[in-house]
Amino acid sequence: MLTGIHILLTLKCTNECEHCFLHCGPSREATFTVAQLRTLIRQTEELGTVNTVYFEGGEPFLFYPLLLEGLRMVRAAGFDAGIVTNGYWATSVEDGLRWLRPIRELGIVDFSVSDDEFHHLEKNDRKAEFAFQAAQQLGIPAGTICIDPPNVSPQAAEGRRGKPVVGGGLLFKGRAAEKLTAGLPTRPCEEFTTCPHEDLLSPERVHVDAYGNVHLCQGLTMGNMWEEPLCDLVRAYDPQMHPIVGPLLRGGPARLATEHGLAMSNSYVDECHLCYTARKLLLPRFPQYLTPKQAYGL
Ligand code: SF4
Repeated sequence: MLTGIHILLTLKCTNECEHCFLHCGPSREATFTVAQLRTLIRQTEELGTVNTVYFEGGEPFLFYPLLLEGLRMVRAAGFDAGIVTNGYWATSVEDGLRWLRPIRELGIVDFSVSDDEFHHLEKNDRKAEFAFQAAQQLGIPAGTICIDPPNVSPQAAEGRRGKPVVGGGLLFKGRAAEKLTAGLPTRPCEEFTTCPHEDLLSPERVHVDAYGNVHLCQGLTMGNMWEEPLCDLVRAYDPQMHPIVGPLLRGGPARLATEHGLAMSNSYVDECHLCYTARKLLLPRFPQYLTPKQAYGL
């Protein structure tokens, strides 16, 4: 049952992080309008199962008035709200307080700040830390998201005793699949027989972008809610019949590649690396489900 909507308020971002699933960056567009937000909230209400709406991106604070208006709508509709940001706007704790006071008035249940090496444009960048501290001072429930760069250890993984393991918490999809996989240990395609990170059978949360795409995983959609109301999309979602989700459920990214007759390399870093690479090859065949092209760096 769908209980969470994550609004990709914009694909524009201050940074071009190497691990970004959606290839966001300063040159990207795709920003919601107020009218689109209104439509999304109304359709979410009609669904009747959602309790939490997140604002993320890209960097949602780049469109601060829009973020506030969206929050107002979400709270007026009775949903809990959350925000994910890189905190670029908190040039000091004092400044951060000014950005966050209006948000505290509206009330949010989660304020997550990405604070790791990937998000820091400059050495000793403390803006994420300032944003987090400002949220804490205001009593806003806050946390940090920290992704480590990939590291390779000889530590044994289950069933792979003695083989190198890639750690760091990264998933190799989006820009990470293209920028961060070089030189990392790989495993044979046949080993990737599940999607370990998304509940594709019965998704509890989806991401929605300004084009109306309803993402099951970044760049993999159940359909477009500007073309078909969200209620109808969710009701009609048949995972086994979906040309991408069906194979993934039957046998993971390995099955996705074989069912569609793709010529792949022999080995990949993880499930997402194979899945993303296969999906990119399938873009011309399934443009209605593998979209937007920006999610594939195009
Ligand atoms: S395996 Fe594919 S569908 Fe599953 S999380 Fe990774 S990229 Fe997404």
